[in-house]
Order: sequence, then structure tokens, then C-alpha cells
Amino acid sequence: MNRQKYPADQCLSERNGHLFIEDCDTLKLVEDFGSPLFVVSEQQLRNNYRQYKRAFSQHWPNGQVDILPANKANWNTAVRTILSQEGAGADIYSEGELYSALACNVRRDLISVNGGGKSDDMLRRCIQAGVRITVEDLDEPERINRIAATLNTSAKIRFRVKPDFPNLWKKTDFAAESTSIDMGIQLYKSGIPAQYLEELGKQVLQMKNVELTGLHFHGGRHHNSLWYWRGLMKRYAQLVVHLCQAWGGYQPKELDIGGGFATERDPHSKLGIREDTVLTWFTYPLELALYSLSVSARYRVMSALIEKALIKIPGRKRAPTIEDYAEAAVGTFRDTLIRSGLDISNVRLQVEPGRGFYGNTGIHLSSVRKFKRQTQPLQMNWVLTDTTYFFMSGGVYEHNLHEFCVANKVDQPAKHIADVVGQSCYADRILPLVKVPDIAEGDVIAFLDMGAYQEVSAANFNALPRPGVVLVNGDQAEWIKLPETIEDVYRRDRIPERLRQNDGLNPVTPFSQEARHA
Ligand SMILES: *Cc1c(COP(=O)(O)O)cnc(C)c1O
Repeated sequence: MNRQKYPADQCLSERNGHLFIEDCDTLKLVEDFGSPLFVVSEQQLRNNYRQYKRAFSQHWPNGQVDILPANKANWNTAVRTILSQEGAGADIYSEGELYSALACNVRRDLISVNGGGKSDDMLRRCIQAGVRITVEDLDEPERINRIAATLNTSAKIRFRVKPDFPNLWKKTDFAAESTSIDMGIQLYKSGIPAQYLEELGKQVLQMKNVELTGLHFHGGRHHNSLWYWRGLMKRYAQLVVHLCQAWGGYQPKELDIGGGFATERDPHSKLGIREDTVLTWFTYPLELALYSLSVSARYRVMSALIEKALIKIPGRKRAPTIEDYAEAAVGTFRDTLIRSGLDISNVRLQVEPGRGFYGNTGIHLSSVRKFKRQTQPLQMNWVLTDTTYFFMSGGVYEHNLHEFCVANKVDQPAKHIADVVGQSCYADRILPLVKVPDIAEGDVIAFLDMGAYQEVSAANFNALPRPGVVLVNGDQAEWIKLPETIEDVYRRDRIPERLRQNDGLNPVTPFSQEARHA
């Protein structure tokens, strides 16, 4: 068992060859709840909140620190309720996310509603709820001012700013485009560029029904390194200082630095990078040259290549810890602000982690249906599972390579190179060319760091019902989201009356009809 893989303070451990999450045997979870299955650890969730709060507070001794986890990464209402008990706020993007934040008693002054192109209805809802509106559009303050006036109240807003980053010229591994981090941030739709903010701020400070409580910036996870965070926070702090001066000595009450911190086993981009470089520059030209050989010789060379060059070895290099991120980000931010003479003694610092916050709180369990082996014409092995990468689409968009283990064989040595694949008709290579121990039907694969962006992005391709979510607390396990049934998959379908003529079939209940005929 690799100690480094499951540090002591985290929810995963190995006991007698089985993967445990808290005090629950993952094999027993599959037995009791079925598979595929998402599992969330309550203790890990609470620990993570406290760890973020502690780490960031340590480097912001002057004022309060608020943790506003991004709801989009996991908007499950039980998860949200646990975080509300801990005192967490919420970064909200849509009306649906606002719904869960309000339903789960998130403190109103710790809700930040992001997103461009908000409708009047949405703005009205935000003002009535008394949440922070994080402004992205130039005409938004004026609209908020008008709506707040009709409601006879005052709205609290902040600007989402978009500084430029001449210091971040290295390549982003976040944006799909192959560009610098600076360009990656500029190409993203959100935020108001510095050039507009001097004028806009002066207008807003004159508005009767709007209070500008502070500034917000979210750059996202363009890189998992500490230099990225230092570079990001330096330019953001300089813009904050510049704006405060330009607005005649404006004093912010809160400064939000957004999210973008990686989980330690950081699965992000680990597929894309290797595939781009290895395949495009090396494998493909070589393969083309091999077409002069016989079929068997060509496939033999390719088999060797698969074993030697294309194999994926997930997770050797760890991303920084939260403590390291907090020191790099907040240390730089605070120093730059103080050196420029800004008084931050009563300023609240706000942080909006998503992936780094939820990532290691969840795993995904899936049963093996078959170990499919072939030696001719090409040596290939496939672990056929009962899940699909459509249930973790977030990871597909982000080219994730998740760390994993065989949950009932954690202590067994890796022997084979195989694709761990999903059941959809796509190639569905969840883990392409990884090393696995001997595999048999009924083994359980545990995909790690599935707590952020995965379950919430599950899709129904191939009419596959989406898995449910179980919450674990000690040795207790309960549903917090029920699995879909096939009927659920078709629940929103409607067949117009005119199409139903004389076929005698009721397509939404075929299985039960079949049963009746039998
Ligand atoms: C997505 C998002 C976050 C969280 O980003 P992570 O990379 O998951 O940490 C925080 N704030 C805003 C405004 C976001 O859009």
C-alpha cells in the first residue's frame, strides 16, 4: 500500500487488501447500493473546509477569511447542508445553484452570484435574497440600481475584474487553446477589463441603490504551480490598489481571489499533454513508416510501443498542498497590497475553491464485467466496466487521468497493461493503458478524486441511467442522490398523439409489457 497515495488525514485507507472510505469497505458499498456508484466522505468534506479556513486565515491575520466553495463543482443538497453547518459560503453561477444555496441555508452575505448576461428576473431574485452580485457586464450596475430602487432597497455588488498578466507568459494547461496563461485568461468571457473599471467605479459610487462592497477575481486553474499563484495575485493586487486610488481613496470591505487550486493527486490535463506530444511527434510518424512492413510486423512493433512509450503512469508528481497555495497566493497578495499602502486591517479575504476543495471528498466505484484479452494481431487488454466516462464528463473535457485502484485487490501487484473502459459504444477509455493486477469479473475499480465536477456532469448517452450518490460518515452509508432508473431516462420524452396510431405499442413501458406477455 502506497502511504503517499492515501495520507493519514484523508478518508481513504487499505484494510486487508480492500479500499475503505472512512470505516466503510468499498466492496460492501457496492454490495449494498449497487454499481456504478459515487461515494462522498462527510469527514473529508468537513476536514477540507477546516483546512482551507485554517490555511488561508494564517496568511491573512488582519481580517476575516471566508471560504465560498464553488457550487458548480458539487451542488448536491446534502453536501451543501454539511458545508452550511461548517459556516461555508458559496460561489454561485446559475439560478439552479442559487436555489440550492438558499434552500440549504447558506449565509446570504457569503453568497456570491457570478456570471455574465444575468436576466432582470435573476437580478431581482438576488437583490431580494440579499446576496452579493458579482458584476461582469458594463450595464449591470445600472440595471441593478434600477431594480433595487423599485424594491426600495440597496443591492450589494462587487466587480469581477480582469487584469492583464504580462508576467504569465508560460503556456496554460487549462484552456483548450495552446496559448499563454495571459491569453487564456483574456479569451475567457468573464470579468471586466481594467480599462473600463476606473470610469465604471466612479459611476457606481454615485448610485443610490447600490453598494460596492469590494472586488472579485477568478483566474481558474491555468497551472497547478505556486509561481502561477504568485504571478496572478501580484497583478490582481496592483489593480486593486490602482482602482482604489482612481476612485478617490475607495476602501474595499472584501477582496475575493476566486478558486483554481489543484487537488494533490491532480488528475487534470494528464491525458492531454502526453497524448499531444507522444502521439503527434513520435508515435504517428513512426506508425506511418511502419506501413512498409507486413501487417504482423507492424502490429508487433506497435504492441511494443504501447508497452514502452504509451503507458500512463498516473500521479507521480504531487501538486502543492493547500498550505503551500495559501502561503504563495495570500502571502503575495497581502504583501503587494500593504507595500502599496492600502489599509487591509478590516478587509475580508474570500476564497472560492472548487476542484481543490471537493476533489478528494469523492470516489467512483464500478464493477468489472469482463477482462478482455487479445494477443493477435495486436496485444491488447481491456477491463470492461459497468460505468462510462459519460458519468464523469467533466473529466473528459479536462483530459483527466484519475488515479485508481482495484478496490478488492489494493495489495496486489500490477501485472498487465490494459485500457480500463466504460460500457458506452464510444471508445470510452477512462484510463487508457494503465497497469492493473490480475482482473476478474466482479472486481471493483475505484476511481479517486471524483468529488468535483464529475457526478454533476453525468450524461445519459446510450440511454444509460445515471448513478446515485452515497454519503459515508464513519461506518454509516446513506443515499444522498438516488440512482436513475430506465424509466427516469425516458421521463421527459413525449410522443405526440398523432404518431401513436395503430402500432399497439406503448414505448415507455416495454419491459413491463414484455413481462405481461410472458
Ligand atoms: C469555477 C469557479 C470557481 C472554482 O474553480 P476551481 O478551479 O474548481 O477551483 C471559483 N470561482 C468562480 C467564479 C468560478 O467560476
